[in-house]
Amino acid sequence: GVRHEPTSKIVLDLERLYDDASEELAYVARYARAIQQQRGDYNGRVLSIRADDLRALAIVYDASPSGLIERLTEHGVLVADPRAFFAN
Ligand code: C2E
Ligand code: C2E
Ligand code: C2E
Repeated sequence: GVRHEPTSKIVLDLERLYDDASEELAYVARYARAIQQQRGDYNGRVLSIRADDLRALAIVYDASPSGLIERLTEHGVLVADPRAFFAN
């Protein structure tokens, strides 16, 4: 059957993502750039991504969506609360 992962909004910290030198995040960075292009959303410091796109990306990493979220968290490229992020 289908495993339902918890759904909370996935928000990437673009500055951290694009500055991250690790090979591991190369596909995430490339994907984020493609989404920015599709939306014409070039000036944001953060990018909200679709749950569907996270699922697709997880396949590339041979991980579950929650497994990929864990890795992104380890690299510090996820924003837990975009509004708190901008309140700083
Ligand atoms: P589309 O999927 O036909 O969506 C058309 C417009 O509906 C989007 O224009 C956006 O304004 C709105 N929209 C669709 N889904 C959502 C959503 O979940 N949340 C919000 N806030 N708005 C939504 P936009 O942003 O200019 O995107 C243009 C097209 O670029 C989209 O057409 C889609 O084909 C592609 N695209 C943009 N962002 C993504 C993405 O994150 N993932 C994927 N797979 N495609 C995207
Ligand atoms: P903001 O652009 O001032 O948006 C404030 C809140 O309005 C958002 O909180 C969200 O609840 C709502 N909102 C804005 N645009 C949309 C939309 O297209 N669809 C829907 N359904 N709601 C919308 P949120 O999501 O917590 O985001 C907080 C701030 O984080 C946003 O302030 C914006 O500055 C930034 N942000 C989040 N996602 C993106 C993104 O994908 N691209 C960019 N450039 N900024 C983003
Ligand atoms: P959001 O705008 O707050 O949308 C939350 C959820 O509502 C989306 O989760 C999606 O399931 C649904 N939704 C909102 N607008 C539409 C729509 O026009 N068409 C459809 N079919 N569903 C819609 P999802 O897909 O996981 O997206 C998470 C967040 O990623 C969105 O939060 C939005 O911030 C961003 N996003 C996703 N797709 C697009 C897009 O095409 N353009 C833009 N600008 N932002 C998008």
